[in-house]
Amino acid sequence: MLERLHELEREGLRDLAQATDEEGLQTWKVKYLGRSAELGRILDGLRTVSKEERPALGKRANEVKRAFEAALEDRQQRQASARLTQALQTERIDMTLPGRRLACGRLHPATQTLRQIVAIWAEMGFQVYRSRDVETEAYNFELLNIPAHHPARDMWDTFYTTTPGVVLRTHTSPGQIHVMRARAPEPIRVVLPGMCYRYEQVSARSEIQFNQVEGLAVGRNITFGDLKGTLTAFARRMFGQQVQTRFRASHFPFTEPSAEMDVECFVCSGTGCPVCKMTGWLEILGSGMVHPTVLANGGYDPEEFSGFAFGMGPERITMLRHRIEDIRSFWANDLRFLEQF
Ligand SMILES: [Zn+2]
Repeated sequence: MLERLHELEREGLRDLAQATDEEGLQTWKVKYLGRSAELGRILDGLRTVSKEERPALGKRANEVKRAFEAALEDRQQRQASARLTQALQTERIDMTLPGRRLACGRLHPATQTLRQIVAIWAEMGFQVYRSRDVETEAYNFELLNIPAHHPARDMWDTFYTTTPGVVLRTHTSPGQIHVMRARAPEPIRVVLPGMCYRYEQVSARSEIQFNQVEGLAVGRNITFGDLKGTLTAFARRMFGQQVQTRFRASHFPFTEPSAEMDVECFVCSGTGCPVCKMTGWLEILGSGMVHPTVLANGGYDPEEFSGFAFGMGPERITMLRHRIEDIRSFWANDLRFLEQF
């Protein structure tokens, strides 16, 4: 038996020297170290060997096993390093080739303006509050004091979904109701940015989708003076400390009184040019004191609480700033346009 172990060791090591690849090593491993290998059987059979022979035989069998394992590991390491050497020689990297330039993306011009607007309001203590693009008619219209006969309800202005009473929001104002119902009776200072949708003839001046940034402040003792002061402070941060502003009376169903804010034309500094249609003023946003009905719909007692709201379009502001003449450029995905910003 001892003699057989010697032979087995010689055979095994000789065979191993001939295994030249990973597959050969695996086959060898099964043959000499596997479950049904001869060496395994000898080790298993030690129980049946006489007590006198057992220690010497067991010692020798284990020596052979360790020799096999060590030789196999050595062999595997040699093969791995041979593969690496070969790869280094055949897959050599030419360091002198110029690198490939990475295409670096950037923010969409409307997003740039939107983020700037949001950042200014954040400095002034307004949180961003996001609400859904798909709304019920109740949130989009009725709760904002826009009854069924109002012109804004005309089906030509609105995308209706196949679910009755569910529409793509035509403005960010439904978010006012959501945030009021979530926060009442706590005071609110939020901006609500997002995409809005209208069923319109697409032209240089109107698109079927556009961004809006809505703002809402609700609390006790909020006055029209707060509205004017806050919006003027915003305009100065957005368009420069020296910019002149003016408010013009207007009408929105969800505010009373309502006003539009103009800023001095930043193209001609108020002297008159084609961008401002020779008026010297650019219309920037709509605003007003939150209508008592809307406050009540949001869960605030209009006798106790008041607030102001405003809304502006990042695309319109971007167009004025960069003198972009066609609103369709924003969503046309034309890199010649987008790469200018
Ligand atoms: Zn002008």
